[in-house]
Amino acid sequence: MMNPIIIIGAGLAGWTTAREFRKLDATTPVVMITADGGDFYAKPTLSNAFAQKKAPDQLVVTPAAKMAETQNITLMAHTRVTSFDPYVKTVTLDKDGVVSSLDFSSLVLATGAQAIRIPVAGDAAEKILSVNSLDDFTAFYGALKSACSQHNDCLKSYENNSYTGNKNVASGPVNIVILGAGLIGCEFANDLINAGYQVSVVDPASRPLAALLPETASEQLRESLENLGVQWHFGTTALSVNKAAEKAESAFEVTLANGQTIPADVVLSAIGLRADTRLAVAAGLACERGIQVDAALQTSAPNVYALGDSAQYASAGNTTLPYVMPIMNAARALAQTLAGQKTDVVFPIMPVAVKTPALPLMIAPPKLGSQGRWTSTEPNVWLFNSEQNAVIGFVLAGAQTSKRAEMVKLLQQAI
Ligand SMILES: Cc1cc2nc3c(=O)[nH]c(=O)nc-3n(C[C@H](O)[C@H](O)[C@H](O)COP(=O)(O)OP(=O)(O)OC[C@H]3O[C@@H](n4cnc5c(N)ncnc54)[C@H](O)[C@@H]3O)c2cc1C
Repeated sequence: MMNPIIIIGAGLAGWTTAREFRKLDATTPVVMITADGGDFYAKPTLSNAFAQKKAPDQLVVTPAAKMAETQNITLMAHTRVTSFDPYVKTVTLDKDGVVSSLDFSSLVLATGAQAIRIPVAGDAAEKILSVNSLDDFTAFYGALKSACSQHNDCLKSYENNSYTGNKNVASGPVNIVILGAGLIGCEFANDLINAGYQVSVVDPASRPLAALLPETASEQLRESLENLGVQWHFGTTALSVNKAAEKAESAFEVTLANGQTIPADVVLSAIGLRADTRLAVAAGLACERGIQVDAALQTSAPNVYALGDSAQYASAGNTTLPYVMPIMNAARALAQTLAGQKTDVVFPIMPVAVKTPALPLMIAPPKLGSQGRWTSTEPNVWLFNSEQNAVIGFVLAGAQTSKRAEMVKLLQQAI
């Protein structure tokens, strides 16, 4: 019997590849191996779940077993791939300490990314959380719920929360400290402040989304979130997280490099993500910021492909594209290749929507290292002009985000 196509990872990249492939080929065996439970969920909903009043289990779009049945694939959940050999064409697996191996005809690496952690000292540093999966979100949600039960400012979001009196900390709002004012940090800040938490954000830059936004757009976002109550701590970093004294305002205190100390019941690290290249590196594949893939999404080994947050795309100027839209495009092309029709991925212009209801944003950043400057000719519209005066990037804010299609056309003219 023919060896199966093996997909490692059950995130958006893994599941979308399986679904697109099944549209073209109903019978070739497909095995999906994933370290998590394999439930299908939309990761972007993790950073606006509180606004939607959703608990972690309500974020599951389709349970794993149902997905596997619908796509006619074999799902090996809670199973970790520990290594693979691209030339012998075999993967080694570990499920609950039981090691086995499986042969493949083609292998798809959809292993995603890992949260970047900065070294932080202190006796509570290990309590810092980050959210890059539904499991992470479940832990974060649990920590918030537990913090709420320590305060008499319990949130309505937790219907069955039974406050039984102050145990270790004083009454008052639940304090959340977010490390990082990038896309994910800002989205969580907006969502959590809307849910009634006290939110502080720490970032070494001087403004939010500094890497993506022109200064005036950044300032607008800063002001919009500040008006809701977000407290910014720019130009500094967290040095340590320690347990606070008995009856303190919050369970922990975060000490910043500028000497300030801020109370925290929960600390969320949103510093950024790094492509998970560990398996690929160990197998000897070419990797830089991600697993390097050519236009047809093939890695440096034949019959081994990569996409999603783990990949570094030649078709996108050798960059990673850790967003939803690139995955959709890459999965469609890869499905064709896996079905026998080698197909290159062509990425269209893919603006990213930032889910900050205080100031919704639509961003199409210029390519990394592009020379030029931002200009603003009308309120809430910023254009990035190249040295040849072509528009090669834009930012829209507020109601102007409706101009997305118009702006994409403008960018297409520059290509
Ligand atoms: C909070 C948040 C909000 C976001 N919002 C947006 C948004 O609004 N718009 C947007 O475009 N993008 C957004 N993104 C980014 C987008 O969600 C990701 O680009 C996308 O979900 C990545 O999917 P993936 O399948 O590549 O990786 P993942 O979803 O991380 O999946 C990786 C899979 O690989 C498995 N795995 C890894 N290693 C192994 C191994 N050794 N063995 C077995 N299994 C393994 C994991 O268990 C997992 O199933 C957001 C991201 C976050 C974190």
